Amino acid sequence: MEIYLDANATTPVLPQAREAALAAMAEDFGNPSSIHSTGLKARALMDGVRARARRVLGAGQGRLLFLSGATEGIQTAVLSALSALRDAPGRPALLLYGATEHKAVPEALKHWNALLGLHLEVLAIPVGRDGRHDLDWLRAHAPRAGLVCTMAANNETGVISDLDGIAAALAGSPALWMVDGVQALGKLPLRLEDRGIDYAPFSGHKLYAPKGIGLLYVREGAPFTPLLAGGGQEGAWRSGTENMSGIAALGAVLAELEAGRSFRDAATLQGYRDRLAAALQQAFPGLVFNAPPELCLPTTLNFAVPGISAKVLLDLFDAAELRVSGGSACSAAQARPSDVLQAMGLPSWQAAASIRLSFGPVTDPAFIDEACARIAVCGASLRDSCLDPSAPGLAVPADGLTRFVVDGACCYLLADAATRRAVVVDPLPELTDRLAQWLRCQGYGLAAVLDTHSHGDHASSAGELWSALAQVPGPIDALGWPAGADAIPLGTRRLTRLPVPGHTLDSTAYLLHDAQGLRLVFIGDTVMPGALGRSDFAQSAPLDYAASLVRLQQAVGGDTLLLPGHDYDDRFASTLAVERAAQPLLADVLAGRLDAAGFAQAKAVLECDLGLTAYQTVACGARVDGGCSGADSEMALTELQALLARHPDLLLVDVREPYEQRLGQAPVLGPRVRCEAVALSGLPDALVEWQTLPPTTPVVFFCRSGNRSSQAARALRRLGHAQAWSLRGGLALLPRPAALDAALAI
Ligand code: PLP
Repeated sequence: MEIYLDANATTPVLPQAREAALAAMAEDFGNPSSIHSTGLKARALMDGVRARARRVLGAGQGRLLFLSGATEGIQTAVLSALSALRDAPGRPALLLYGATEHKAVPEALKHWNALLGLHLEVLAIPVGRDGRHDLDWLRAHAPRAGLVCTMAANNETGVISDLDGIAAALAGSPALWMVDGVQALGKLPLRLEDRGIDYAPFSGHKLYAPKGIGLLYVREGAPFTPLLAGGGQEGAWRSGTENMSGIAALGAVLAELEAGRSFRDAATLQGYRDRLAAALQQAFPGLVFNAPPELCLPTTLNFAVPGISAKVLLDLFDAAELRVSGGSACSAAQARPSDVLQAMGLPSWQAAASIRLSFGPVTDPAFIDEACARIAVCGASLRDSCLDPSAPGLAVPADGLTRFVVDGACCYLLADAATRRAVVVDPLPELTDRLAQWLRCQGYGLAAVLDTHSHGDHASSAGELWSALAQVPGPIDALGWPAGADAIPLGTRRLTRLPVPGHTLDSTAYLLHDAQGLRLVFIGDTVMPGALGRSDFAQSAPLDYAASLVRLQQAVGGDTLLLPGHDYDDRFASTLAVERAAQPLLADVLAGRLDAAGFAQAKAVLECDLGLTAYQTVACGARVDGGCSGADSEMALTELQALLARHPDLLLVDVREPYEQRLGQAPVLGPRVRCEAVALSGLPDALVEWQTLPPTTPVVFFCRSGNRSSQAARALRRLGHAQAWSLRGGLALLPRPAALDAALAI
């Protein structure tokens, strides 16, 4: 069963609302503007819903318009206020909005301010660490304000605004006042008329009505300009035939609310939230809440876990079929901090790692029990993966290579289970705590911490990592290599080094050998998939670059996997053969068509022309690269079924991380299909194995959403395996996770 904890994004439709909508479509389907009986019935229904909404919202003599949702309500309110300001004598100078407002508000202000040619100054009202408006600031600016927009409750944090305090701060101000009531509907008494609010938009889908129906309150006497002109519906304030099924559904929700049925009272909801909060704290002991619970809606929790990214938590929760949302926008390489949390002055790690958990007021204790149980399972899974910074783990000793990426910079951890030792290549300061925690939890010691080159602008974080583990290295050189050693042994593996000056004078490649021979190379920034590292730094050796590349080719050949120090667009790895075909400059120097000086000169021109974006620009323009989009390598489930019928030797690869796979959602595939679990962080190592697959063997990757599997398929394709695919939409689009088995008829 799915546990949906993202009610602030949208809610399911209440059964009573579904029934009412269906009845409005099947029986009472009339147009409320028609004057025959069918129309009159529809009008009566609509009037009844409006009257209900008036009571619930305390709308008094104000107008309530049905429209499509809050975004339209916000536009209408802003247009109305700004049109009035345009014509006002002694026009006020400021438009103010709360710094944590939903994007629809500042965007509407900017849009209409420009379109109407007002060009008033638009300012954000600062909020405190508790997320509440700075009322002194507001009081000081109110006399010059023409419109003030403040939400009743915040969608990310649940922080409830002090509407009475705001009303007091606005006393005597000429400003019109809009209150975005979206998240407060059904959860807080709004008393719109009493408070002197001029405009208040609402969306039905945040409270168990369908999407596409909303309300706008307009105070009696407040200026109004219609957004939509036409047939004159809603007293010509909002033209367009009304969404009667939506109105009927909203009416059914409001009826439940008014009658005190279905909806839980605030104290009960607070009890639910406290139980969820306790379950979270127990599952993730270092967890911090991002807003004071006593100031928040009783249905919203926003938190971060130090040392664990929002992406990891989202994937983890989703694997446990707990739907929550990230307070920030995440991509594979970067997480953008939440604007709301930044406005509250939270540190950027916290603003970037935040998770929102929200439930609706129609929730029962069994649902909360199940949610708490799943939260506990998520915590256990992280601990077992040694990813919870606060807890010792029970993880199976890890073996092999793991890749970490921070803003495009790559760090590799090579672990050896037999000797319980590990080597870290290109440590990153952002990862020190996480790596140290992981190594401690696994009971591993450091054999070496190596940099592939020194950095002009910052010191290596190798020292920090050694200290974090309370280990002291023996004598080492500036890049961390043990003095006098030819090789670093690691169980059956061994690392050797090859100087490759160019990017910097001390650039060094580390060659990893196993029992079979040379396995792969940590190449640093000398060769990046689709590009070469820069050589225009003060510490670069541009004239040495060509010879280094030639030496590299002699030492490792064309087909050995090269793992880069930077990977800006999820390419993972490359080989010299692939790069020769993609980069004419590299091909020329390796074929001896360009000498050291000619190569350095051509490269300098490239760097000068393309500047800092050289990597990405060259990468996307590379010739045999398959482009930068994954659409060509995606396949639908039906295509996978067909492929499986033709290719029983097909290899399916689950690229979700172990902490997701551990939650029991991994499809248990029957004996007919070969299935491997290779987390994306372990992909580089697996790519070595897959290089030797017969070219006709299809490899199909799958994950939760289709994003990570698409990266894996493209990475394998770039290495020349054309039969690499990903399952479009991932497990999320299958009816049930285990349905992959059923769908493949195993
Ligand atoms: N205001 C708030 C506080 C919201 O949470 C939302 C939706 O997330 C909106 C406005 C916009 O609502 P809609 O997308 O339904 O128009």
